[in-house]
Amino acid sequence: MDAAQPQENPGAPAAETPNVAAGPAPEAPPGVTTEAAPLPEAVLAPAPPPPERPVISTDPTPLEKIPDILARARSAQRNWAELPIRDRIDAVAKLKKRILARAEEIATTLHEECGKPVEEAALSEVLPNADLVDYWTLMAEELLDSVTVELDALSYPGKIGRIHKDPRGVIALITPWNYPVAIPLRTIVPALLAGNAVIFKPSEVSPRAGALVASLFKDIVPDGVLELVQGDGSAAEAILDNGVDAVVFTGSVATGKRVAVACAERLVPCSMELGGKDAAIVLSDCKLERTANGLVWGAFTNAGQNCASIERVYVERPVADKLIAKVVELTNKLRAGVDTSRITTQKQAAIVRRHLAEAVAAGAEILVGGAPPEGSLDFPPTVVKVTNEDCSLMREETFGPILPIVLVDSPEQAIEKTNASRFGLTTSIWTKKVRRARDLARKLKTGVITINNHGFTAALPAAPWTGTGDSGYGITNSPHALAELTRARFILEDTSGAARELWWYPYTPILRTLVFAMARARGGAGFFGRIAAFFRLIVTVPRRMFGG
Ligand code: NAP
Repeated sequence: MDAAQPQENPGAPAAETPNVAAGPAPEAPPGVTTEAAPLPEAVLAPAPPPPERPVISTDPTPLEKIPDILARARSAQRNWAELPIRDRIDAVAKLKKRILARAEEIATTLHEECGKPVEEAALSEVLPNADLVDYWTLMAEELLDSVTVELDALSYPGKIGRIHKDPRGVIALITPWNYPVAIPLRTIVPALLAGNAVIFKPSEVSPRAGALVASLFKDIVPDGVLELVQGDGSAAEAILDNGVDAVVFTGSVATGKRVAVACAERLVPCSMELGGKDAAIVLSDCKLERTANGLVWGAFTNAGQNCASIERVYVERPVADKLIAKVVELTNKLRAGVDTSRITTQKQAAIVRRHLAEAVAAGAEILVGGAPPEGSLDFPPTVVKVTNEDCSLMREETFGPILPIVLVDSPEQAIEKTNASRFGLTTSIWTKKVRRARDLARKLKTGVITINNHGFTAALPAAPWTGTGDSGYGITNSPHALAELTRARFILEDTSGAARELWWYPYTPILRTLVFAMARARGGAGFFGRIAAFFRLIVTVPRRMFGG
């Protein structure tokens, strides 16, 4: 059911509830009459209420319902994980068509709820999700398959080991409002394929998008496998209080640290995808037109409310004037409401306003844009030239449509400034000399580096999206993300049949001879010493295994 449809009434009898009194009579065993024996009272009594079915709603979920939601997810997860992987793949694969068929509805919801231009919403939160489903449904079987471990036949005769990637169980997924469809899906899809159930808590700022995501899965996965919990931080806290097996969190550093502490107290593994302060490093040989276009999009898409938004430009002096002129020209051409979004919340607008004011007080020059009247969410794209970097605009995450430009003397200086940030999500390098950029990339500490492009790789399901420092340690997308969604388990089978292992009791003189012969044979002696050790092993191993 989607958010626009009437909610299901949890109290109403579900159509599939078996009606015992009206159902077909069970076949009688031979010799037993089926005629009009009075029905026992238990059968005549009204049918028990059906189990409560999940409700896809935009209203906050009452906190007292969360224990039941978790119990339902836990029971559904067990059955879901038992299914052959092909069945899970077939179910989740249906999602692609749903996403594409509901493209306009998704984009319009995002436009109305978050202020994104419809085209931008479709490009960032519809089409990449179809790729996401394709990638994971194609790769899941191979990536989730067990792996045989090679064991040395001399040390471990008759043994074979396999690593299994088991589901974690019930995963809490807590997500922000800035990409409220794409961010949840990039975890839900692989998490479900791996056999987990997901309790999904979207931001209270984007409940319609949250309900829409949940509705995409209706009737393609069993009830309980994906549960939606609407509400604010208290709903997320209640989910953690009621016991989950892993947490995937995307959001701010401050909340992420609170969630990480809550997980540490419960020894629950967690993935943290947090904020960013991305830099773009522009070298003097860059392709001017492409670089300026890339910077303007990278800074202003989604009104800069993007963890990978360009929030610092370090440009080499020789090209700075030309680049700044081009960036200002392009920014002036952006059409409010057509190319650019409004800021989604007043809280966010206040942060952006404060950062700009502090930068200006520290000497920054506004080249285009500037703060709108108090209370307005229509913050124009703003380009500033910064000379004094000791201000919040250059240190903290702004998450708004401001592009600060700083002139540097060399690429090395730009690298140093980029690495000085406590954030480390993505960085871009703009130059015609790709080989040189590759060398510079190795000196950067950020998790993602793009050469002559910026930020879009979050949309590539095969590429790891990850950061360092205050950007968190989570990994989304790519096979690496499965480490957070699965638990490696090792199963060893021993068919050697020997009376004892080398390392079992008793510890005897033969064992002592044997272990030191092994040390020599494996490299602890020269050539002839090793040959001698091998002969000693041939004699002593059987005596140890079958004798003493
Ligand atoms: P946020 O305020 O930290 O909220 C993130 C989620 O945490 C929301 O669902 C929020 O619910 C919930 N939450 C609030 N208090 C909580 C608590 N005490 N315990 C558990 N959960 C709690 O972040 P935001 O403002 O929505 O999102 C913007 C931030 O996300 C930025 O810093 C951005 O860089 C980051 N981000 C990072 C990535 C990445 O991939 N690295 C991607 C996108 C965004 P409510 O909203 O209902 O309060």
